[in-house]
Amino acid sequence: MIRNKISNIILWILSISFLLITVILLSTTWAAIFFIIPAVLLNPYVNKLLWDKFNFHNKAWIKIISAILPFIFYGIAVPTTSTTPNPNLVSSLPSSAVISSSETSLPSVIPSSSFIPSSSSQAVISSSTAQTIPAVPAVGAKLKVHFIDVGQGDSEFLELPNGQTMLIDAGEAEYGSGIVSYIKGLGHTKIDYLIASHPHADHIGGMATVVNGLNIGKIYMPKKSTTTKTFEGLLTAIKNKGLQVNTAKAGQNLLKAGNLNIDIIAPVNITGDDLNQYSAVIKVTYGANRFLFMGDAGSTSEAQISADVSADVLKVGHHGSNTSTSQTFLNKVRPKYAVIEVGKGNSYGHPTAATLTKLQNIGAAIYRTDNDGTIIFTSDAKTITINKKSATIKQQAPPTASSKSSAASFKAAASKPSTNNNQGITVYIADTGTKYHLSTCRTLKKSKHAISLAEAKAKGYTACGICHPPE
Ligand SMILES: [Zn+2]
Ligand SMILES: [Zn+2]
Repeated sequence: MIRNKISNIILWILSISFLLITVILLSTTWAAIFFIIPAVLLNPYVNKLLWDKFNFHNKAWIKIISAILPFIFYGIAVPTTSTTPNPNLVSSLPSSAVISSSETSLPSVIPSSSFIPSSSSQAVISSSTAQTIPAVPAVGAKLKVHFIDVGQGDSEFLELPNGQTMLIDAGEAEYGSGIVSYIKGLGHTKIDYLIASHPHADHIGGMATVVNGLNIGKIYMPKKSTTTKTFEGLLTAIKNKGLQVNTAKAGQNLLKAGNLNIDIIAPVNITGDDLNQYSAVIKVTYGANRFLFMGDAGSTSEAQISADVSADVLKVGHHGSNTSTSQTFLNKVRPKYAVIEVGKGNSYGHPTAATLTKLQNIGAAIYRTDNDGTIIFTSDAKTITINKKSATIKQQAPPTASSKSSAASFKAAASKPSTNNNQGITVYIADTGTKYHLSTCRTLKKSKHAISLAEAKAKGYTACGICHPPE
């Protein structure tokens, strides 16, 4: 008798428990309805009714199975009803909204029940947060901007104070592997933000090698294509790695994390065929310090920019040529430091005396990669310090394999067409034809003679359309 009473009490408790489970879990999935079965079949009152009215004895094994089956149904149903919609939910939202969506809506969809394989739902949250929610810089964290010496071309690598990285441009093709080893030498294997300012070879030439050699986060390019092999090679490398290109245009925010902010402020509304004007212009603000990266943007683009361009450090547009850095624009920027990425003895006459004078008159200290090698600006959000340790690479002392600084070994790693300071750039001609070439040009298989660029031009040779030597 007592044993019966005890078992009745236990059955009542179990029955009520299953009823509560049904009510609680029904808000997460319809599959919880099956928990009502043991709630009914275990109930002593229901069993007494069954016996009295239908002469039915509800056997123990029926009760046990009725209590086990709902767990199985629920276990099958939950992964399909709760985790499947979540990746869609996360990926369809704008990146800034992802953090709030993972924090607010996921827990309401997924109950804190142990039936759910937690690894899959957590993977959804962490993968989306890792990609879209950059950390906020710690107090005193440093922003380092490396103006990498890539001869006549542009490449700036940013070690952001929140631990992320950014690369703007990658010089000519022969510098790609040198840039990859330079970045790896700093201890990085990933570029979170890769910017191809515009599709000229002195900016994107080395970028396919960069894409293949490092992990890449987001890629930005202006919406302007060209038909060169270099550009098509880059697009192929991006496609082969399963990456996508985002359009770089004014008004885009790349990163906002505490006092660190990165915006694209140009191109605004460029038309026509001048690729330089389409350059993505990037403004990086870290506390009180501001950096402005112009690519090869010219005065047409400068005039269109409505964003605040004031900056401490200006990466001067188009290697210091006359087509950029208009006085009107420079008056708005008022840089303390101007950096010109330019090759020794380049045939373009970059930078021009006029641009240098304008920069001096506005009070900017001028740094040039042809004179200073790779230049590193460090900001702690308040003050900027400049490191020119790589200034060992002087025009008078070409880099050798025995040079010790990192920039020197970087330069040595990059195989550059040999240059001679007195005679300018060396190019190559064949026994036949009217074109001059780079040393590496595939058309030079049969014959190859070194000649100075000036001499080649004087003799009426013109630049090869395949290897694109300096003009
Ligand atoms: Zn350029
Ligand atoms: Zn250009």
